[in-house]
Amino acid sequence: MGDARRVLDWDAQFECALDPVTAKAIRDSRRPEDDHSDTCSMCGKFCAVRSMNKALAGEYIDIL
Ligand code: SF4
Repeated sequence: MGDARRVLDWDAQFECALDPVTAKAIRDSRRPEDDHSDTCSMCGKFCAVRSMNKALAGEYIDIL
């Protein structure tokens, strides 16, 4: 699950979950803003995982 989390692969995270149905239902009920749908609602556009992946890929990080 950690590997899936690192790349924000939500489907792979659900596959690793003990209760995938409940995990997916919780995520679906707490979606982040559309522009940040690859993150979770905890940090949204401030997602450190997303920012680090972009930095490592040489992409611009827009958090303002
Ligand atoms: S939004 Fe926050 S809690 Fe969610 S994956 Fe990114 S850093 Fe982790």
